[in-house]
Amino acid sequence: MDEIVRLSKHRGFIFPSAEIYGGFRSTYDYGPLGVLMLRNVKNAWWRSMVQLRHDVVGLDAAILSSPKIWEASGHLANFTDPLVDCRNCKERWRADHLEPDQKDGKIHCPNCGSVDLTEARAFNLMFKTHAGPVEEEGSVAYLRPETAQGHFVNFLNVLQTSRKKPPFGIAQIGKSFRNEITPGNFVFRTREFEQMELEYFVPPAEAQKWFEYWCAERMNWYIELGIPADQLRLRAHDPEELSHYSAGTSDVEFMFPWGWGELEGIANRTDYDLKAHSGQSGERLEYFDQATGERYTPYVIEPAAGATRTMMAFLLAAYDEDEIGGEKRVVLHLHPRIAPYQVAVLPLSRKDTLIPTAQEVLGLLQPVAMCDYDETQSIGKRYRRQDEIGTPLAVTIDFDSLEDRAVTIRDRDTTEQVRVPIDKLVEEVTGRLAL
Ligand code: ATP
Repeated sequence: MDEIVRLSKHRGFIFPSAEIYGGFRSTYDYGPLGVLMLRNVKNAWWRSMVQLRHDVVGLDAAILSSPKIWEASGHLANFTDPLVDCRNCKERWRADHLEPDQKDGKIHCPNCGSVDLTEARAFNLMFKTHAGPVEEEGSVAYLRPETAQGHFVNFLNVLQTSRKKPPFGIAQIGKSFRNEITPGNFVFRTREFEQMELEYFVPPAEAQKWFEYWCAERMNWYIELGIPADQLRLRAHDPEELSHYSAGTSDVEFMFPWGWGELEGIANRTDYDLKAHSGQSGERLEYFDQATGERYTPYVIEPAAGATRTMMAFLLAAYDEDEIGGEKRVVLHLHPRIAPYQVAVLPLSRKDTLIPTAQEVLGLLQPVAMCDYDETQSIGKRYRRQDEIGTPLAVTIDFDSLEDRAVTIRDRDTTEQVRVPIDKLVEEVTGRLAL
């Protein structure tokens, strides 16, 4: 974990926010590599959930949202965590994260060890703000605590414009905000984060079938993108753990350095949300099946993943230290679709004679892959740097290239090198990356 935090800062994945002012409350900024990688995580999700399917369409709903939405959804009343205060050191904790001490069976403050803790009280996690210049009750707005609800309040808009019918889904990626009591573990739990959520609307009788389908589908997504299956598990919630809207939830969990932690929740939200918004708004959020003459409120299966948390899991799973020719190296075995750069273009030296060919190669590759270009330091150091940021392929232009119009491709994982004619380079690179 420490290595990932160090590498993230050192190589430009993730920086503590407002660092020059001493940081700001567990917020983080995504640097040049982080922004590429996070975008790749989101694109990989979008590709699998929208692009490769005919039954899912996209949405990008507003973050600033009407209190009516959260009143109807139950979040104003129920979206709370149990908060306890330590009377001794004044730290605050989530009561459901504290375990009784094995020796005396009492709950101790994890900071100072005191047992002088307050009773748990419900703390609403939504960020409240005001839209407009006057801070009064009528101008209250909330920053959405999940991207979902945007899907539900637009149900009729999407149904009418997309001409889809159940089973069909609406996918959305975007920022969500929760006033977490105890943010921490780097970007695992932050107050501002990104989610990738699908709301999949189905005939009620098919809900269980689709729930199982999405559990399997989502597990495979992580495995296909390189997280080893033995570092993942699917865990069904106990009845007392279920959210207020759920008839069944399973979490995809990853083995984080501190133990199993959730990457994604897959829930059967029943018809809870559509019915709640129908009741509050007076609009009938239903589907009318012309073939059968039946009108019904679809059930919803929701795979809800965190983009920022998932990015961290990809970093942790990819991190490796090995030895190449007797020399230690750090390498990120990231899937080419997730790695910040797919290709590094490296002229062997900064000599003027090599640069035009190197830039020609760069120009050929940039339209098909995200490329880094680096002409400083020894070639060994540059390979090491690319290994450490997970670049799957390096293309080296040397003095022979000027004669034979060929370049060397080096593979990050095997470090094997092959010579390829510049004419065949794009084909070879795209074939190897299998994007
Ligand atoms: P937890 O129990 O850890 O608070 P949750 O069960 O409330 O999480 P969901 O509401 O199911 O989480 O949200 C779906 C996904 O969004 C989570 O699996 C996680 O990946 C991501 N997520 C939720 N809260 C945060 C957060 N504070 N920081 C980063 N990612 C988050």
